[in-house]
Amino acid sequence: MSKQILVLPGDGIGPEIVAEAVKVLQRIDARDGLGLELVFDDLGGAAYDRYGSPLADETLERARAADAVLLGAVGGPKWDTIDPALRPERGLLKIRSQLGLFGNLRPAILYPQLAGASTLKPEVVAGLDILIVRELTGGIYFGQPRGNRVLDDGQRQAYDTLPYGEGEIRRIARVGFDMARLRGKKLCSVDKANVLASSQLWRTVVEEVARDYPDVALSHMYVDNAAMQLVRAPKQFDVIVTDNMFGDILSDQASMLTGSIGMLPSASLDADGKGMYEPCHGSAPDIAGQGIANPLATILSAAMMLRYSFAQAAAADAIEHAVGKVLDHGLRTADIWSEGCTRVGTGEMGDAVVGEL
Ligand code: NAD
Repeated sequence: MSKQILVLPGDGIGPEIVAEAVKVLQRIDARDGLGLELVFDDLGGAAYDRYGSPLADETLERARAADAVLLGAVGGPKWDTIDPALRPERGLLKIRSQLGLFGNLRPAILYPQLAGASTLKPEVVAGLDILIVRELTGGIYFGQPRGNRVLDDGQRQAYDTLPYGEGEIRRIARVGFDMARLRGKKLCSVDKANVLASSQLWRTVVEEVARDYPDVALSHMYVDNAAMQLVRAPKQFDVIVTDNMFGDILSDQASMLTGSIGMLPSASLDADGKGMYEPCHGSAPDIAGQGIANPLATILSAAMMLRYSFAQAAAADAIEHAVGKVLDHGLRTADIWSEGCTRVGTGEMGDAVVGEL
C-alpha cells in the first residue's frame, strides 16, 4: 500500500535541506520497497507569495489527505512586515492545530563524533540522549483572549492567556509516559506549579496518569530549575514532558547541548500517529541560498517519519546509521566543522548519506 508524503519545503534554507531529505527518502524507498509517494506544496512565506495565505485551504486539504508531512522551515525578513495574521509562522501554527498535532517529540542526542562541537564540557554532554515531549496545540500560543488594549490611564497593554484542559494534559502526559517506557523509564514533568494555576492542574493530571504507568519513575521540576539543570547536569534526564511555551524554550536550549541545531529532528504527532516531521531549527535566512546549511536534521526527521508514522523501524535505523557513518568519515557542514574534518556543502552531505544507503 502506498504511503503519501506531503512535502512542504518552506522558506529560507527550507528548499535546500528538504531536497536532501527527499533524495534520502527516494533512495530508501527504492532499496526497501516502502511504496512512498511524494506530493509537493508550499507553506509559510512561499505560500503567501503563491496563494496570498501562509496556509492555503487546498494545502491543508492535501495535508489531511497525506499519511505524513515533511516540512523544511518557514519565515524570513521578506515577510516580517506583512499583516501579522498572514505571517509565515501563522501558517505553521495553523497546520499544527488543524491536523491536531499535539505531541511534539524533540530528541537531543549528542553524536559521539560531535562531542567537541558543544559549548559545554565534553564530560557533561558525552553520551547525551534526551527526549523532550512538548505539548504543541494548547497553552499560551493559542489561548484566548489575547490582544492589545488601552488602559484607563492611557497606557497600552498587551495580554495573552494560558489555558490547559485536563484532556489536553492527559493525552500529552500519555505520550510522555509511552516514550519513557520505550527508553529509560524515567519521566520528568516540567511546570511552574508554584505560580501558575494551569501548571497546578498539569501536575495533578500527570500524577493521575502516572497510576497507569507504575513501571515509569515520575518526577516533577519547576521550569526555572529545569533550565538550570539542563546545562548543569543534562544527563540526569531521560524523557521530559512539558507545556507548549516551556517546551519551546527548553528544547532549543537542549538542542545547543548537542553542538548544533542543524542536527536535531522533530516529530509532531496526532492521536493516531499521523505526523508532521521537521528540523528543530528555523529557515536560517542568514545562510539561505549559499548551499552550506546542514541537511542532517531534516534527513533525521525523515527517519523519524519512517519510525513513528510508517512503523518502518529498520529503514529509520538505516538512515540514522548512515548519518553516523558519514560523520565517522569526517564530513561536516560549516555549523559542525572542526579542525581535521572535511568541510562539505548541503548537497554533498545529502549525497554522502545516500551513498551510505
Ligand atoms: P534559525 O534556527 O533559523 O537560525 C538560528 C541560527 O542557526 C542561524 O545562525 C542559522 O544560520 C543557524 N542554523 C539554523 N539551521 C541551520 C542549519 N540547518 N545548518 C546550519 N546552520 C543553521 O532561527 P532564527 O534566526 O531565530 O529564525 C529565522 C527565521 O526562521 C525566522 O523567520 C523565524 O520565525 C523562523 N523560524 C521558523 C521555525 C520553523 O519553521 N519551525 C522555527 C524557528 C524559527
